Amino acid sequence: MLGLQVEDLGTTPESWFGLVNRYYVSGLRQDLAAHLNGKTEQFESRYRIRHRDGTYRWVLCRGRATRGVDGHALQIAGTQTDVTRLIDVEERLIHDAFHDRLTGLPNRNSFLANLDRAVEISRQNSHYRFAVLFLDLDGFKAINDSLGHLVGDQLLASVSSRLRGCHRPGDLLARFGGDEFVLLLDDLGDFSVAASIAERVQQELGSPFLLEGHEVTTRASVGIVLSNTKFDSAEDLLRNADIAMYSAKAKGKGQVRFFTPDMYERTLKSWNLDNDLQNALQRGEFLVHYQPLVSLSTGRISGAEALVRWKRSNGEIVSPAEFIPRAEESNLILDIGEWVLRTACFQARQWSQPEMPLLTMSVNLSGRQLSRVDFLDIVLRTLADTGLSPSQLELELTETILMDSSRAAKAALDGLSREGIKLSIDDFGTGYSSLGYLRKFAFDTLKLDQTFVTDVHSDRNAAALTRGLIALAHDLNLRVTAEGVEETEQLRFLAAHGCDTVQGYLACRPVCAEEFTKLLFRQTALLPSFVPASLLEARGSERSPHRPSSEPRPAPGERARLTLVS
Ligand code: C2E
Ligand code: MG
Ligand code: MG
Repeated sequence: MLGLQVEDLGTTPESWFGLVNRYYVSGLRQDLAAHLNGKTEQFESRYRIRHRDGTYRWVLCRGRATRGVDGHALQIAGTQTDVTRLIDVEERLIHDAFHDRLTGLPNRNSFLANLDRAVEISRQNSHYRFAVLFLDLDGFKAINDSLGHLVGDQLLASVSSRLRGCHRPGDLLARFGGDEFVLLLDDLGDFSVAASIAERVQQELGSPFLLEGHEVTTRASVGIVLSNTKFDSAEDLLRNADIAMYSAKAKGKGQVRFFTPDMYERTLKSWNLDNDLQNALQRGEFLVHYQPLVSLSTGRISGAEALVRWKRSNGEIVSPAEFIPRAEESNLILDIGEWVLRTACFQARQWSQPEMPLLTMSVNLSGRQLSRVDFLDIVLRTLADTGLSPSQLELELTETILMDSSRAAKAALDGLSREGIKLSIDDFGTGYSSLGYLRKFAFDTLKLDQTFVTDVHSDRNAAALTRGLIALAHDLNLRVTAEGVEETEQLRFLAAHGCDTVQGYLACRPVCAEEFTKLLFRQTALLPSFVPASLLEARGSERSPHRPSSEPRPAPGERARLTLVS
């Protein structure tokens, strides 16, 4: 076992102890003495002992003494087992329990144990200061998705080695999993050290990483919590550092934020929001507003977009931009979306009276709704229950939904258009603006995002793009709706370049159903009367292929009337 001959062993216990690694000698002596003195049933000790080749082995030594009549130990016999491999495995397990495999850094467990210790010291010593830095890489998911997990892993390992160079010797750097790293800055003389370490981190990560032939750039959002803020436990501190990191992320890439109590208040507010949203549907706190879509060939309302609102019990109206993303996270969007669809279809059916113009009702969809296996059934049942014709319903989808959509979602969209329900692509130009989607799915309408429309009359690039997109959409047999039209000049440009429909504050803001009914009855002119009749005549013949059957071709007299109203 030890590569020794019998004669090398010597005859005294001391010659044996001489082989044992000096750190373990006193433990071995104690274990032996305890047994010889009758304190233990059996002698057992684990220690490291020198092999003839100079390396050390882990051994487990066990024995039992034979005793004289007075109980005195006379001799001892037992076994010694080489447990080096066993201990190696054990040590690896202990190491793995406290370290991250990819980067070799301490992990969450290890970090929490150290943070607990720091919290304890700060309770006993009011002069002791420390800080926690919470780091999250910006855009890591996109790198992982586009360049693959191998590059993703290499990036994390490279980031960890750059971070190792940013802190002081006594600090603890750990990886929490994913792209999250934390630093415990121990025994800070001055809190400003935390800011300078965060700055060093940003500098270190500032230069690109060369991974598998790709030049990859990443930044980190950093949240810092100092030990002079109020906290009850290590978990509190960590949560606050995390909140500060989220606040940094919200400010953009590569930002650093110190935790402040009002950050916590805001986060608490958004947790409460989740809670309140859960109850809002039962309490009937949602309502739908409708925004007119105005046809540029007739000047009349040709449709409405249903836009959900949340009227909280305190009377505050919450914008969908604020609560829809949260409802999507909690899946509550499925119930809200179904309710909006039903309400809007019912309303559109109410408006489908002989004396009223025929309207298309546009309803926004969330990706979650589309991935429901029974989505098509829900839409068809809603149409059947409310009596609305499928051709009067248009569902709006954004490109992001299409990007994430599964095969089942594509089947649902195909099913919807087979049933005669229209589809429109919403906010076009804000996502990936992939024309591929326009061909892949059976869209009827392209909704040009407000970002195009805003500068259309003042910026040559925006003008050229908008002109080109309108022409292209028409080539693909799609109608074009311009969103967010606020100024007459924008309207003039859009009308001159063949846009079919406009939606925006210039015509009308979203209004409640009663207001919308008044607009329909009064046939109020919603747009300024600048569009020359000659242009309308010319466009009427040019664009006839994409006028939907639901919108009757205006009689010449009607077009003339548009130029007169003011
Ligand atoms: P969206 O579908 O692009 O709806 C148009 C948004 O632009 C509406 O905001 C509307 O009020 C606003 N808008 C219309 N004209 C103008 C204008 O001239 N200027 C400006 N600055 N804004 C204008 P809103 O109602 O706050 O809705 C925001 C977004 O929330 C919607 O964008 C849509 O993505 C989502 N949303 C609204 N209702 C629903 C819904 O029922 N379900 C789902 N999934 N999403 C909804
Ligand atoms: Mg929309
Ligand atoms: Mg839109």
